[in-house]
Amino acid sequence: MEDGFRFADELGPAKIIHIHEPRSALKAVLVVDNVAAGPSIGGVRMAPDVSTAECFRLARAMTLKNAAAGLPHGGGKAVVFADPAMPPERKERLVRAFARAIGDVKDYIPGPDMGTDERCMAWVRDETGRSVGLPPEIGGIPLDEIGATGFGLAVAVDVARAYCDLELAGARVAVQGFGSVGKHAARFLAEKGAVLVAASDSRGTLYDPEGLDVARLIEIKQAGGAVTDYPDGRKLDREAVVGIACDIWIPAARPDVLRKDNVDSLKARLVAQGANIPVTDEAEAALQARGILSIPDFIANAGGVICAAVEYHGGTQGQAFQTIEEKIRHNTERVLAEAKRRGSLPRAAAVALATARVRRAMDYRRA
Ligand code: NAD
Repeated sequence: MEDGFRFADELGPAKIIHIHEPRSALKAVLVVDNVAAGPSIGGVRMAPDVSTAECFRLARAMTLKNAAAGLPHGGGKAVVFADPAMPPERKERLVRAFARAIGDVKDYIPGPDMGTDERCMAWVRDETGRSVGLPPEIGGIPLDEIGATGFGLAVAVDVARAYCDLELAGARVAVQGFGSVGKHAARFLAEKGAVLVAASDSRGTLYDPEGLDVARLIEIKQAGGAVTDYPDGRKLDREAVVGIACDIWIPAARPDVLRKDNVDSLKARLVAQGANIPVTDEAEAALQARGILSIPDFIANAGGVICAAVEYHGGTQGQAFQTIEEKIRHNTERVLAEAKRRGSLPRAAAVALATARVRRAMDYRRA
């Protein structure tokens, strides 16, 4: 088989587009995975080090996520290969160049992802007329600011309690990646009585078994600091967050952070996957073997895209929260119950649910 088709299976990908524009220094890849349910929605990641294979896996995760959430959208993902911390004027030029380059790919609706934000999405919409995750002034629901994904994670954890014999009051939470997803997950869980004992970012891990002040830590991050700038607690290296004794462990940073080589050091009862594809297949099996429940990414972290879809179809912030609660509660319950019934990994149950929906959507389309 041609190299370009190495990811091909029964669901997709529909297209993979590599973009290179030497004059604007734009290098990007777009994977439109499956559009049976409607135009694909997926984030635009800005990072120097993401492979096409990873972009495809992220696009597939979006196909499954959007299908599981019952949205009228397929899945896609784009990567702009660049350092997101570049000066703002250069970033605007690059994002606009990317938007123009994909302007005709009408079955892809870009959204924010790591390294891009609502301003970037406003530039994309200015160039192409379509994007989600917009600023409120142009009809957006600020999904990262309101913590749409973190809210959904807290809902998923609330459902999962019954499947791992966990009380939320006093439950110890460790968050890897105290960014848009991680900090709001910590905030919503703290509102339900849980205690944040560790948080990490790209610069290190902060740990205090007595509990951290979530609001204070959010302030420090919002002012541009690192979690390790928090005045109290122990400062550890970045990887230390994996081995912190806790009840709920939330990966909310990068892919493949729990792998065969480090999964045994995890000391938690529940993993709520905030990041996309944060646990390798081997590590997920190892968690199951140790009796650690793991809620799959595309079920637990669907809050952001559900919010984006509500925005795209003209809904309000209140409707977004209500839809997230309803859909994530229902899906988490359904997936965990089904996994328990057949003694399978929650991911296997989730993939079966989502794939069946995609297949049914494909059956409605002209062959
Ligand atoms: P973000 O950039 O706001 O936050 C990421 C955080 O992770 C930052 O604090 C960063 O310092 C930290 N980080 C980076 N590398 C790290 C490492 N190796 N170890 C520890 N921390 C590290 O990004 P985000 O929007 O919160 O997204 C985080 C993850 O969640 C991504 O995988 C993203 O695809 C996924 N996700 C995001 C949303 C959303 O609504 N934002 C929705 C679904 C999934």
